[in-house]
Amino acid sequence: MWKKLPLIWKILIGMVLGVGWGLLAVFTGLENFTYDWIQPWGTIFLNLLKLIAVPLIFISLVKGISSLTNITRLSRMGIKTVSIYLVTTVFAVAVGLVLVNIIQPGNTFPEEKKLAYQEQFGGSITEKQLLAEQKKEESPLQFLVDIVPENVLAAATDNASMLQVIFFAILFGLALVTLPHKKVEVVKDLFSGLNDVILKIVDMIMLTAPYGVFALMAALIVDFSGDIDLFAALGLYALTVIIGLFFMILLFYPSLVRLITGIPYGKFLRGILPAQLVAFSTSSSAATLPVTKEQVENELGVSEEVSSFVLPIGVTINMDGTSCYQAVAAVFIAQVFGVELSLSAQLTIVLTATLASIGSPGIPGGSIVMLIIVLSSVGLPVEGLALILGIDRPLDMLRTVVNITGDSFVSSLVAKSEGELVFPPPEPAPDPGSEIL
Ligand code: ASP
Repeated sequence: MWKKLPLIWKILIGMVLGVGWGLLAVFTGLENFTYDWIQPWGTIFLNLLKLIAVPLIFISLVKGISSLTNITRLSRMGIKTVSIYLVTTVFAVAVGLVLVNIIQPGNTFPEEKKLAYQEQFGGSITEKQLLAEQKKEESPLQFLVDIVPENVLAAATDNASMLQVIFFAILFGLALVTLPHKKVEVVKDLFSGLNDVILKIVDMIMLTAPYGVFALMAALIVDFSGDIDLFAALGLYALTVIIGLFFMILLFYPSLVRLITGIPYGKFLRGILPAQLVAFSTSSSAATLPVTKEQVENELGVSEEVSSFVLPIGVTINMDGTSCYQAVAAVFIAQVFGVELSLSAQLTIVLTATLASIGSPGIPGGSIVMLIIVLSSVGLPVEGLALILGIDRPLDMLRTVVNITGDSFVSSLVAKSEGELVFPPPEPAPDPGSEIL
């Protein structure tokens, strides 16, 4: 029975049981048992996903680019992808700004709590503050400098340097397309074979997803058990972020997808649900990439050519959930500290939150440091970060879901415009050794 159950159900069951176990552990004093014997399985699952991220990005991008026979098409797709990513990111910031200005969560914050939290967390952000200072002194072109690695092997060892790996993959892919086919035929075949191997590994890793998700959720609940007060006090702020994120997930993407590509609302959401669940439990869009890619290809009918190109770029530069949350967080902090933000200050937030989300790595809490840039750009005290750190974990989980949903959305749009969307997708050929998501 368990064997026959589709993977998506297994992951859901794992998640629910994980929450159940976490609660049980809190009430029966099994916290240490959970940390010692259950949490490590979650870490192993997370590591499995992370270990495949760099090879997957490199190989699928090189394969994607080199299978494009025509360079004009490549640059057209590139421009389209980046432009749509930018538009959706700016839209997400605007959603966040509108919501936080209407709900005004910061204005309901009790005075004593405010002071207590500033004191409680004041120390924990000194390191981040230092980083912010460093960032402020950098040239405005530093983000370009950061894209070009001085050592590609070093870049490949750091999951936070995905943009550098992408840069090299694009160079490599471009060289492959421009050289005469005869000369590079064997390299192309090699990458095609490697791509199959990586996808098989992803399939294998996903078989462990229900157990990994169980362990991650159980540990999360135990982590939070002592912090209920903080949780409640920041509820309205969290609610504002959550409304914005749900608006993106449930309304914005699926209705636009329906309108532009014809993929029905439910089919879109159902198709990417497994990826959303993995994003939710791992808080990492980079780690979720293998699942996102498989889902948009198998369920939404996006061609491999498009998904291999659009998704790895999206994982690094397109973070709509992150940018929406950064806008809410910045204004919330301003409200708490009694700083009045003018229209131009809010427009500055649009710009910096967009840039900061582009620069955030797709890893858990990846955007926290970047938020400092947004705060400093409008003269807000960086200490404000301390207020929201305590509640960041669950919001990170949800914004990661939005991040990968946005990537999937854009991949279907680009595929549609390139004539590379076949919906409903054809049944995959039966492969006895593999699990179909
Ligand atoms: N965890 C997010 C992601 O991986 C990034 C962030 O907003 O911190 O997409």
